[in-house]
Amino acid sequence: MAKKDTSYNIKDKKIANLPANRFIFYVERKVRKTIKDYQLFSRKDKILVAVSGGKDSTVVLHILKKLGYDLEATTIDPCIGDYTKTNLKNIKKVCETEKVKLHILSFKDEIGAGLPEIIKLFKKKNKEYASCLICGILKRYILNKFAREQKHDCLVTGHNLDDEAQAFVMNVFRNDIDRALRQGPISGVMCSSKFVKRVKPLYNINEQEIIRYAKIMKFPVNFGICPLSAIAYRREFLNFLNEFEEKHPSVKYNIINFHKNMIKTINNTKDQAKVQGKIALCKKCGEPTSGKICRTCEIFESIQKDLDKELKKNLKK
Ligand code: SF4
Ligand SMILES: [Zn+2]
Repeated sequence: MAKKDTSYNIKDKKIANLPANRFIFYVERKVRKTIKDYQLFSRKDKILVAVSGGKDSTVVLHILKKLGYDLEATTIDPCIGDYTKTNLKNIKKVCETEKVKLHILSFKDEIGAGLPEIIKLFKKKNKEYASCLICGILKRYILNKFAREQKHDCLVTGHNLDDEAQAFVMNVFRNDIDRALRQGPISGVMCSSKFVKRVKPLYNINEQEIIRYAKIMKFPVNFGICPLSAIAYRREFLNFLNEFEEKHPSVKYNIINFHKNMIKTINNTKDQAKVQGKIALCKKCGEPTSGKICRTCEIFESIQKDLDKELKKNLKK
């Protein structure tokens, strides 16, 4: 008899006990329903999937391809040594198998330096930022610019239910209502032609379900943790939520449902633009922002000259 795989821990026993083929069907049906319910995209849309080499983006790429959508993939390499080299190898393998065109971009080529060097440059200026904060800002900036230039209708990310619940709780802890209101299966939807909408087909699928899906499909994915993520604020929240859910199953579903109801209630009372805030173009780089200067320019101002020098050096190579 085949040994039971204990590397994932799906709380709902009915789902956990589904045979592999029915479990695959269950996950794919949920993704189809999310796309339909939230009108994430249509068959006519040109879709760009942001892949990282991890389980989430690999699963979403595979399912969308299987459902017959018109898609390409892109990855932004933050240049974190062996960790991102392994991811890149896996991404190439997956895109080859799925027959999806892959665009490889990197922090070194786009910004001038890899993430560890960027963090060091900040430290020299006595600025202490969490790696994931800088990494996230840069990835979103590069992805939006690339998707827009390549004329994609939307950008798919692999964010799952756990990511969303965690982000919402973090926003509550920080009292960041603007960010909480911009969360959801379609994020960053603001009235700007410079903004490519970001959509999350795995919005209703939890982390453990994704792990089981990726294992059944034997995807070449990295289940390891990024060496720079250990110090992240996010990890504390993840541990906190996981411990809580151990004792109170479905707490993450409840958080997401609370968020959905909150948005619904607000949308019924105010108009969308008021809820999400007006969008302007950054005075420095021209990218969309809710203030005068975008977050990327604001944070990177102090090290911009050093990065420009690195970028010039890289271009000469
Ligand atoms: S874990 Fe953080 S630092 Fe590592 S790749 Fe992800 S966002 Fe970047
Ligand atoms: Zn800017």
